Amino acid sequence: MTAAGTNTRLAAVIGFPVRHSVSPAMHNAAFEELGLDWAYVAFEVAPNWVAAAFAGARAMRFGGLSVTIPHKAAALVAVDDATPAAREIGAVNTVVPRDDGSLLGDNTDGSGFLASLTEEGFDPTGRICAVVGAGGAARAVVHALAGAGAAEVVVVNRTQERAESAAALAGAAGRVGGDPDLERADLVVNATPLGLAGTDPDALPIDVRLVGPGQFVVDLVPNPAVTPLMRAARDRGAQVAGGLGMLVHQGASAFELWTGRPAPIDVMRAAAARALG
Ligand code: NAP
Repeated sequence: MTAAGTNTRLAAVIGFPVRHSVSPAMHNAAFEELGLDWAYVAFEVAPNWVAAAFAGARAMRFGGLSVTIPHKAAALVAVDDATPAAREIGAVNTVVPRDDGSLLGDNTDGSGFLASLTEEGFDPTGRICAVVGAGGAARAVVHALAGAGAAEVVVVNRTQERAESAAALAGAAGRVGGDPDLERADLVVNATPLGLAGTDPDALPIDVRLVGPGQFVVDLVPNPAVTPLMRAARDRGAQVAGGLGMLVHQGASAFELWTGRPAPIDVMRAAAARALG
């Protein structure tokens, strides 16, 4: 990487904790690939300091910000304006500075998810989709699937109230469901942290006997590359994919919003995969 200097534009991710983030590796590789004098760093920002962090970003004219757990909802409050997607989902994962210095909050998780589906050859239009989980990632996925014309978007979650709130994001296509919906879905998405590296290696978010041939199972958990759910669903004959695709594509969208340049997707994917280990 070229040394940062007086013309370097700074971009950053804020989270708490943020040490696990692969975004610095992914974006710095992209800046280097395109010869851009940008640098991307990670800031651990404690809860209650999000507005102050954004004030600093405004004052220092940052080139862009990413927002990760647990600050995505607080970021929606701290920005000056937000896109319809960010407002509807209730979360900001990407902040784009405007020429007047104000900060626009966006959410590229949903569009990143759809781009990863396209890459895998799956078109959700007219299909039955089941989303397991109802947190920030699930909400972005539900919103995106409905926007892409899914016939049904069924939310399956431990806490019913959150499931209802997430399902409402899909309008008439959305509802809360359970095991029978997993069995008949064309697409099953795990948007819970079950299976994440460092947690119970046998934890599965669903009863895998419910899925099989003809179904596509996507685990948003990006690490490990092959999660327990992916392994089990693949063994049962389902097509499977992990969370790397969404991770890369949400970052690529942010990169393009900040720089106005096409993102070098393959370079970003390789850097993210390396950083994930
Ligand atoms: P979140 O807002 O904390 O939501 C987590 C969801 O998982 C909640 O609905 C929660 O249910 C459910 N859950 C948690 N533990 C559970 C358990 N033991 N049993 C059953 N359900 C459980 O988290 P998030 O931000 O949506 O992230 C969810 C996952 O998506 C994480 O693994 C994250 O790494 C991944 N993710 C990936 C990408 C990507 O680009 N690939 C992007 C964002 C997130 P309750 O509502 O009942 O609490």
